[in-house]
Amino acid sequence: MDIPFNKPFLTGKEIVYIKQVLSTGKFSGDGVYTAKCHEFFEKDYGFKKVLLTTSCTDALEMAAILLDIKEGDEVIAPSFTFVSTVNAFVLRGAKIVFADSNLENPNIDPENLESLITSKTKVIVPVHYAGIACDMDRIMALANKYNLYVVEDAALAIDSYYKNQRLGSIGHLAAFSFHETKNIISGEGGMLVINDERFIKRAEIIREKGTNRSAFYRGEVNKYGWMDIGSSFLPSEITAAFLYSQLDGLENIQKKRKHIWRKYMEGLEELEASGVVRLPVIPDYATNNANIFYMICKSLQQRTDLMKVLAENGIASAFHYLSLHKSPYYDSKHGGRELTMADNYANCLLRLPLYYELTDIQISRIVAVIKVFFKS
Ligand SMILES: *Cc1c(COP(=O)(O)O)cnc(C)c1O
Repeated sequence: MDIPFNKPFLTGKEIVYIKQVLSTGKFSGDGVYTAKCHEFFEKDYGFKKVLLTTSCTDALEMAAILLDIKEGDEVIAPSFTFVSTVNAFVLRGAKIVFADSNLENPNIDPENLESLITSKTKVIVPVHYAGIACDMDRIMALANKYNLYVVEDAALAIDSYYKNQRLGSIGHLAAFSFHETKNIISGEGGMLVINDERFIKRAEIIREKGTNRSAFYRGEVNKYGWMDIGSSFLPSEITAAFLYSQLDGLENIQKKRKHIWRKYMEGLEELEASGVVRLPVIPDYATNNANIFYMICKSLQQRTDLMKVLAENGIASAFHYLSLHKSPYYDSKHGGRELTMADNYANCLLRLPLYYELTDIQISRIVAVIKVFFKS
């Protein structure tokens, strides 16, 4: 493939900051670069409290511990998502009640959510697919009505908004990913955002193996000990330094990604107008952070054929999540309820290459191959 699906972007400062970490002799977590990243997200971004984690998966696992998820609790989440969204809660014994996706985009459909709520429901986990906001007012209203928690899976949602509110700032908790496939990266990496301050103190303890080492480092206690359950959820300073270099480049990265996204949109609009494919729909309340450019084919067969033609032309493309309610692990637990939109996105959604170094000429080539495919 001469056009890969993804190519992780380096700002060039990674090596500079990492060298600096290596020269200090302090490599473990919660050093200078972790503090710099925290400050960026709390001061510039305006999140109430953030904690870097080793992955978004870990941030979600912290959320499940923080919310005291226990055997028999129910968690509502979309079926069309990454396994970590729900596995984090299953680890604590939760039953997942899968919700279907919208007709207009793959996000959780708020229309049928209320019917899934029972006396055992504890959490709703909206996933902002492709960085495009879920209908958060409706989700938060339901959460308030039934006294539920909301954990935003904002893995893909850096730099995106719902009605002027940053994604990740709306639910009680939110989880971001800096995996190398996301807009900004640190290899593996993630972040827990704590919007409900009742959770701040305990989150620090859970992240530090169940100890109050964070308070000890701040000089608030004169020794630290085992306070609660927890695990090792904090990343090393090397990871934090990598991430900080990306935060420096965030504006520039986003400008380029949005340019690429618009080029695809312009190039493929006429195919959409003629009813051949569907392109992403950004609801009025949402912004676009150019995390993914996707198109929706008419059928699994059509998508398979198109992927083959793209590959023959040296262009990599990718489908996305397979419905979790039909996964080998959960199928027998799900109970057979049909989720037709989730299956439809699993079968028909196709993602095109989107990375910083993708050129206008390459985009034109990709668009041309797609147009020829649909003419034949
Ligand atoms: C990538 C992703 C995750 C997991 O992120 P990691 O940092 O790899 O753990 C979770 N949820 C969604 C929606 C994702 O796309």
